Amino acid sequence: MSTAETPVTQVEKKQKKKTVQWGDDPKIGFVEALYLPAIAGGIATALKHAFFKKRSTAQYPEQKPEMPPNYRGVHRLNRDEEGRVKCVACYMCQTACPANCIEIIAAPAPQDDPKWANRDKFPATFTIDELRCIYCGMCEEACPVDAIELTSIYDLTGMSRQEMIFDKEKLLSVFDETSKAGLDPVRTNRGALGPASEKSLQSADSPPPPGRGKHG
Ligand code: SF4
Ligand code: SF4
Repeated sequence: MSTAETPVTQVEKKQKKKTVQWGDDPKIGFVEALYLPAIAGGIATALKHAFFKKRSTAQYPEQKPEMPPNYRGVHRLNRDEEGRVKCVACYMCQTACPANCIEIIAAPAPQDDPKWANRDKFPATFTIDELRCIYCGMCEEACPVDAIELTSIYDLTGMSRQEMIFDKEKLLSVFDETSKAGLDPVRTNRGALGPASEKSLQSADSPPPPGRGKHG
């Protein structure tokens, strides 16, 4: 049987020669081959950290950690200037959510209440499964009216899975608490601060750190 290479094989070989770069194995001496320098280096690093580095153990929960300004914690549903839920039930957040943890049922705004005269819809129910959520922030990025935001609250606990499914009232209460305490992260809407941000700025001593806003 002939062992001559076909033209296709020759082309393949040429292409491989061009694209694949083979590196040489590093040359190591006798001492390196015993791994002694690497072991000594590892022990030196461990000793340096044990005796010369500043300890960073936090005495939680007595000592509260300082969260980074862009930390994404528990959600809140914001209220507008009239105290109504700011959400207009457009389903953008629910659509954008990669974890499918938002569920909204929209309803027509109450026609007999003059407070709702300028609104077509509102969320009759709005739930977020805080255990399923991956805290990516896509919902707040998608919201056209800055109604949903992630706050700096990180110590979220519950005794049951059901307790961790936040309904509209609970999400609104997070807004009430965070805006009262000045803990809510400052968000902007294309450069202009929204009502929620104004509330937090009134209670905060310092201006928002750069990069904390939603769009700027
Ligand atoms: S933070 Fe991400 S995962 Fe959580 S509700 Fe919003 S979009 Fe969904
Ligand atoms: S929170 Fe925002 S994005 Fe989600 S339904 Fe309400 S208005 Fe739309």
